[in-house]
Amino acid sequence: MKIIAIGRNYAEHAKELNNPVPTIPVIFMKPDTAILKDNKPFYHPDFSQDIHHEIEVVLKVCKEGKHIGEKFADGYYDEIGLGIDFTARDIQNRHKEKGLPWELAKGFDGSAPISNFIPKAELGDLYNLNLRLDINGETRQDGNTKDLLFSFERLIAFVSQYITLKKGDLIFTGTPPGVSKVGVGDHLEGYLNDNKLLDFFVK
Ligand code: ZN
Repeated sequence: MKIIAIGRNYAEHAKELNNPVPTIPVIFMKPDTAILKDNKPFYHPDFSQDIHHEIEVVLKVCKEGKHIGEKFADGYYDEIGLGIDFTARDIQNRHKEKGLPWELAKGFDGSAPISNFIPKAELGDLYNLNLRLDINGETRQDGNTKDLLFSFERLIAFVSQYITLKKGDLIFTGTPPGVSKVGVGDHLEGYLNDNKLLDFFVK
């Protein structure tokens, strides 16, 4: 399986990092070794002094497809969960300055904690989902999918023009504003509407 991730999919987050608001989706990937499941702890790597949390809605792809039309894209994901796109912001900034790729900043081991997934039929309006991240009991990120720049269907249609999607692939759909640094000992709790799906520590 593979993890496809979308950068700058909420305008307010693009602005907080002084990035332009994109006119086509910004895509990057993480390897499967980035996945962290079952609320296991995230071990802070020592190659970065500025690991940021980015809470995101994650789609689970349920069948293979390429060149998927936007109006059929809805049939290619059936479950939704939460994930954290951990980002070594110091490495990413150095690489962005030089125009280098982001893999070392985004694809390291444990950089993609994911929750259990919920059938999308149980979630109601997918474009009014609240996603929230609390750290040590304080809300750091609080967003809503109504503010997405590119809809889930648009992302699936766009990505599948280039990359075949397969059953089990995950799509991280971008983070709302409020990203900041995590440290050893931090307690992260992530909510999708009223469902607490993420609950783990940084070690
Ligand atoms: Zn992200």
